[in-house]
Amino acid sequence: MKKQALQAKFKIHLQIAPVFVILGFLLVACGEDDAATPTPIASEPVATTAATPTLFASPTAVPSATPPPTETPPFAGISIGDPYAPELGNAGYDVWEYDLIMQLDPAVENIDATVQISGEVTAAEIETLSLDFVGFEIAEVLLDNRPVAYTHLGDKLIIQPSLPFTAGQMFTISVAYSGNPVERPSRYVGFASSVGMSFVDGQSIYVLSEPDGSRFWFPNNDHPRDKATYRFEITVPQGLTVVANGRLIQEIESEIGRTFIWEHDYPMASYLATVVVGEFERIEDASPDGIFLRHYVNDVAQTEFDSATADLGEAIDWMSDRFGPYPFEAFGYVTADVSGVSLETQTMVLLANNMIGQRTVMHELAHMWFGDWVSLDSWQQMWRNEGFATYVQLMWETQDDPEDLQLAIESFRSAVEENGDTFPLGDPPPGQLFSFKTYFGGAVFVHELRQEMGDEAFFGGLQNYFATYGGGTASDDEFREIMEAAHGAPLDEFFAEWLE
Ligand SMILES: [Zn+2]
Repeated sequence: MKKQALQAKFKIHLQIAPVFVILGFLLVACGEDDAATPTPIASEPVATTAATPTLFASPTAVPSATPPPTETPPFAGISIGDPYAPELGNAGYDVWEYDLIMQLDPAVENIDATVQISGEVTAAEIETLSLDFVGFEIAEVLLDNRPVAYTHLGDKLIIQPSLPFTAGQMFTISVAYSGNPVERPSRYVGFASSVGMSFVDGQSIYVLSEPDGSRFWFPNNDHPRDKATYRFEITVPQGLTVVANGRLIQEIESEIGRTFIWEHDYPMASYLATVVVGEFERIEDASPDGIFLRHYVNDVAQTEFDSATADLGEAIDWMSDRFGPYPFEAFGYVTADVSGVSLETQTMVLLANNMIGQRTVMHELAHMWFGDWVSLDSWQQMWRNEGFATYVQLMWETQDDPEDLQLAIESFRSAVEENGDTFPLGDPPPGQLFSFKTYFGGAVFVHELRQEMGDEAFFGGLQNYFATYGGGTASDDEFREIMEAAHGAPLDEFFAEWLE
């Protein structure tokens, strides 16, 4: 993810600016109104209900059928096991595929959907199976094509079959639902009034789900530890286009509108799933090495987009040379009427119409490796997503010139010190997950690690990291062990010094 609040701080022009100008700008730029208290997104209304997000559901933000939360919610203990985000996910099963069938109309703030979830039970035996799902009127839940008992308690949809689920059992759950998405701030995203799917002025629709927003628009196991493939079958009124992850397979005309079928056959964390609806020009291209590029660009963004992506093909090949082959079937961007935020939605990056520049474009491209192909085992380790994406963006910008890179890193270091966040890089408070320190402190640590290891071991280690954990998740410890193997020496003290 990238916020304008952070983006705007670094108008450094490395090739021409002397050190004192760079430092001077940053010192001026990094005042108290920085990322520590991020600027609210202007285009989104401030939530009037549930202004204080709590760990579990706010009683005002869920359907009336839902009882108010208690001190020990009935679903306490249901978790995928991330200690940093214990309210998310369920460790008892593994989703293989989500099939999202939706009717959407920007003029009507309503989702009308049937979501089919196929997977396998991994726990020895579980009485119930829970999905993360906030709000909506549920019309029907089927287990293996038969109606099944369920309760919607707080933010969990709990499936209650007559017999327990057993290890190895394959299942298909189908949930039919409709309604207006609940608007509630995420406890991790201090700068937005809501997460998930947003409808804009009756004109367009976009999705911003990092880290816990996907449960606000479809039922899922909402944590990167459970990745799955996706199929989207989205119907919209004539004249509009649907953009999602992966490949556009088919477009079907019907009396009710136009249906777009997209498929993404690579494992994807649920927060990276996207559906964007609007009017776009489709642009197709390929990198010099042949990676398929397709973009969906709004009229208002065309000029900035063309300029920001002029070197995209070279950049994607350049990153592939350093980190390993580009991992997915295609890459591209979709521009949206959202203010000041972009997101690394897998294979189809969301760019805000008002925030299109080369820096953002490259940052989000780097996330295809760092965050998407290898995802976080715990949200606590966000520095590994944002620190690397910020560092790789800087590598591209400086063309990895050691002097320019060092100069920029020193300016990052000063800015982080000036900003004054005291929490450890490896353990940000939830409200500071997307903090200045996560991005720029993370990039400084990545640079220091590279200096410590030397280029051969550093890039060799990274390529091994992607070869080993690609398609899944990795923890900081697993990352460190891979880098130690490449380095040929322990790095535990070095990591502890930076992260703890
Ligand atoms: Zn990012």
